Amino acid sequence: MRIVSLAGGIGGARFLRGLRAAAPDAEITVIGNTGDDITLYGLRVCPDLDTVMYTLGGGINEEQGWGRDKETHTVKEELAAYGVEPQWFGLGDRDFATHIVRTQMLDAGYPLSQVTEALCARWQPGVRLIPMSDDRTETHVVITDDRGRRAVHFQEWWVRLRASIPAEQIILVGADEARPAPGVLQAIAEADAVIMPPSNPVVSIGTILQIKGIREALEGKTVVGVSPIVGGAPVRGMADACLAAIGVETTAQAVLELYGSPLVNGWLVAEEDAGVSLDGVQVRGRPLIMHDVEAAAAIARAALGLAAELAGTEDAR
Ligand code: GDP
Ligand code: CA
Repeated sequence: MRIVSLAGGIGGARFLRGLRAAAPDAEITVIGNTGDDITLYGLRVCPDLDTVMYTLGGGINEEQGWGRDKETHTVKEELAAYGVEPQWFGLGDRDFATHIVRTQMLDAGYPLSQVTEALCARWQPGVRLIPMSDDRTETHVVITDDRGRRAVHFQEWWVRLRASIPAEQIILVGADEARPAPGVLQAIAEADAVIMPPSNPVVSIGTILQIKGIREALEGKTVVGVSPIVGGAPVRGMADACLAAIGVETTAQAVLELYGSPLVNGWLVAEEDAGVSLDGVQVRGRPLIMHDVEAAAAIARAALGLAAELAGTEDAR
């Protein structure tokens, strides 16, 4: 069986660990969000790709949900001693090595998709991880602060400001020119099922869907999504601040409507959100908190079950 999944960082990665356990024989292709990517100290950092790679490869800091395990921060301290900015982004020493390798390969002319493949050769994530695009895109956020109305990099809004200043607009810079990375459209075309993990609907999934051709390719497939919103709040993080920026309520219903039909055919919500419905979409209530890998695997099994059911229905027509 061939499965395609779209993924941001923590929510995506934790779900994928469950999906891999639920479908050990499946060929899983993960299309990763690169809108969060940022250049720091001359190094190209791809937070979501790395979160997926470290989580599935067994190198993640479990408590934090991102970054390396057994991490130290000597380089960061030394940079701070030189007064080098920014000081609000916490890269650890082990993590730095990943960004050095990546930047070296990018500078040598390798596209990000090949760089990611090379990094994954070490981590063996058990899935094929492809960045959504080899073309550089970056999510920027329009805010008004004491310096006036201006756009800042998504990471500055998310990490430094902790989304405390309302986002007036969220823009994927470079989206118009970006093409899907090699293998992305083919993987979707060949997929038996597409599963959307409970990643951020705006700055993770929403970003991937902005890359030309991806949404259209998905519309022809059986797509089952998992709600990142449970009982009117994100399970983790500040997705509500992103949804507010695009005028969408923080509910499982509103996120389903945002994706809409025909993109999504099946939608898993938490049991407490059981009233959610949309024409053309099969909605199921399930426990959706990923306490551990087994809980994530149970959600993944439910998503795959629903996808199989929907594919069967389509065949019968
Ligand atoms: P990020 O890039 O690190 O922010 O990660 P993602 O975009 O992949 O996922 C973030 C989303 O995951 C948030 O909106 C959370 O609500 C959601 N999330 C995190 N943990 C869980 C969970 O246990 N269950 C569900 N349903 N959603 C979760
Ligand atoms: Ca992210």
